[in-house]
Amino acid sequence: MSNPDHVTFLVYFGGYWVKNHVGDVAYLNGKDIAIECKPEEFFIKLSAELGEGLYGQNMWYKYPFEEHNERKRLRSADLSFKRMCDAGRWTGVMNVFLVNSTEHPNDIESSEPCEEEIRVERNVASFVDEDEDFDYHNTPPNSDGEEEEEHLVRYKRGSGQLEIEQVFDSLEEFREALVAYALKEGCNIKISRWGKDKSAAVCGTKEPCPWYIYCSYEECVGKWKVKTFEDQHSCTNDNYCKILKAPVICKMFLDDIRTDPDYGPKWMQQEIEKNYNLIVSIDKCKNAKKKAVEIIDREHKEQFSRLKDYRLALLQSNPESIVVLDTVLDDDGSEIFHRFYWMVVL
Ligand SMILES: [Zn+2]
Repeated sequence: MSNPDHVTFLVYFGGYWVKNHVGDVAYLNGKDIAIECKPEEFFIKLSAELGEGLYGQNMWYKYPFEEHNERKRLRSADLSFKRMCDAGRWTGVMNVFLVNSTEHPNDIESSEPCEEEIRVERNVASFVDEDEDFDYHNTPPNSDGEEEEEHLVRYKRGSGQLEIEQVFDSLEEFREALVAYALKEGCNIKISRWGKDKSAAVCGTKEPCPWYIYCSYEECVGKWKVKTFEDQHSCTNDNYCKILKAPVICKMFLDDIRTDPDYGPKWMQQEIEKNYNLIVSIDKCKNAKKKAVEIIDREHKEQFSRLKDYRLALLQSNPESIVVLDTVLDDDGSEIFHRFYWMVVL
C-alpha cells in the first residue's frame, strides 16, 4: 500500500450469496473492482465508480482472511460503517460485497422487507442456528431400523413448533425449541426439570395452568422424544417469560452487539417487548450484555491471533513485501492491536 492512510477495498458487485448444504457461504457471479482511498471516503468513491448501480444494494464486509460466512452487514447510517473504517485501517485491505437482493431469488438474505424485520429474523435464526437446507424427514438414523426413522417427527429448528412424539438430537436442542416456542407464542414458560436424559417445562405464571411438556431419552431411536404435551394455557398471560434467562438473551442479541457495541441493556429490553410482547428485567439484560461483551472480547483476541497468522502467510507468499503488525500494550499489560499494514517492495 503506497499511502498508509489509504485502504484497498476489493468491492464485489453484481453477484449474490448462496449457501450450500453444509452451511458454507459463497458469493457468485459477481465482478470486482479495487478502490484505494481513505476509509471515510469509501462511499463517495464507490458511488463515483458504480453510480446508479449502488441503488438498492445490500452491503457486507469482511477481513480478507475471514470466511464468507463471517461477513458483517454494513449500513452507512450506523456504527457498522465506523467499524469497517477501523477494520480497514487495521488490515489495509477490506472485502466489500454488494447484493441486489430483489434480482436474485437465491440470495440468502433476499426476503427482507425492512431492517427491523431483518434484525429480528437474524436474531432468531442465529439463536437457533437454523439450517435452511436441513431435511427434517430424511436425516440419517442413529438406529438401524430405517422404517422406524421414517416415522420420527422431527423438530424444524427455529420454528417454535412443538408437538407430541417430536424427537430431538439432544436436550439442548429441546431447550432451544422451548425458547423459540415461548418467543413465537409470547407466553411464559419455565423449565421445571432438567436431567441427563429427561427434561420438562411448565407454565411460568403464578396461576394454576395445565400447560406442560415432557421430553425424555428414547433408547430405541437414540433420541430425546416428547412424551407428554399439554398445549393449552388456562392462565392469563402475564407477559413475563421465565425461560428467557440472561444467556438466552445474550445469544439473541449477540450479532447486533457485534455490529454495534453501543446496543445496551435498555435497548435489548425494549426489543424483546416490541418484537415478542414479553417483559424481561433490566438486570437480566445487563447480565446478557456483559456475557455478550465477554464473548466478543474473546473473538477479538482470536481474530488478533489470526491476524498474526495472516501476516506470516502474506510474508510467505510475498517474500519481497513488508508486513507490519503493530501492537501497543493495554493498561493491564496485554498486547492490543494498533495497526496492520502491508507494503510491496518493488
Ligand atoms: Zn399458562
